[in-house]
Amino acid sequence: MTILERLDKEDNNRANLKISKEEILKLADKKERLTKDLELLETLKKNQYNKTDHDATVMSKPAHNLMAYNSQIAVDHRYKFIIATDISTNSHDLDQLHNMALKSKEIVDNPHMIVTADRGYYSSKEIKKCIEDNIETIIPPRCTGVNKKINRARFSKKQFHYHKEEDCYICPNNQTLKKIEKQYERNGRMLDVYRVSSSHCKLCSLKQNCLSDKTPNKQVYRWEHEDIIDNYNTKMATQQAKKIVKKRGSIVEHPFGTIKRTLGWDHFLVRSKKKVLGENALIMFTYNFRRLLNLIGIKLFKKLCLAIKNNNLSQIRGEIAAYI
Ligand code: SF4
Repeated sequence: MTILERLDKEDNNRANLKISKEEILKLADKKERLTKDLELLETLKKNQYNKTDHDATVMSKPAHNLMAYNSQIAVDHRYKFIIATDISTNSHDLDQLHNMALKSKEIVDNPHMIVTADRGYYSSKEIKKCIEDNIETIIPPRCTGVNKKINRARFSKKQFHYHKEEDCYICPNNQTLKKIEKQYERNGRMLDVYRVSSSHCKLCSLKQNCLSDKTPNKQVYRWEHEDIIDNYNTKMATQQAKKIVKKRGSIVEHPFGTIKRTLGWDHFLVRSKKKVLGENALIMFTYNFRRLLNLIGIKLFKKLCLAIKNNNLSQIRGEIAAYI
């Protein structure tokens, strides 16, 4: 087919393309609805809004995104009981460490309690709050996407050594990065800035591994409470911490696996955060109840009920401990 013939055919197809009046009305209606939705988002100053459940937010899942809630649990490592639970409307867990650690502390009467979680909970602000409340945490540090990228191509912050006495950084080419007066605020944290003179960087033989073409000199940012994180990361490098991190998966996956596979629960049936909190608590209670029956059996459970009724727990406590 020649080019002219093909163009003629396309013109004919375009001429035959008819849009009915109903379809135009439908499109106009859709446009009006979408415009109203956009206005609503602007009025609410939000970038997402669920009309059927105003509290639900978008959660990113490996297979798809959905409007949902983020269920949090804390599990005791010995008997796998859920000792604390909550609901978050954030798709990430970065703001949950202190909240869940505090809830666990209220339940567990143990001054030596150690809270461990996956690296999704690693947040310097949350770790600082836990330290201030005397809660020991073991959370593996996160390697952010930015750091990974930098690690591949250029020096990362790890290659710049901090000197506490002088309050300065030393770069891989032995130049000093001095603190400037100005601080920056990022994600609610105040950061000090350390800078080296551009004349040093200009002549540096390692420049290619350190700076982008357009950057004249190196700047390193340091959180004003970074000492806490330095000490924390030293603790995380110990064998004891690594052992605890390794054990974590088998602790918390037990309840989640049982809840999803055995109890068959994989989504909330109610709407609004208040009701979801209630449903979540009921599910976790059901899990704990089943767990207790599995551990002590029905006979001992009856004895326990009687002991609770008669306010005489001291004797049954020993019996239960001996049984399990
Ligand atoms: S480019 Fe500047 S900061 Fe980087 S290694 Fe060289 S002198 Fe140090």
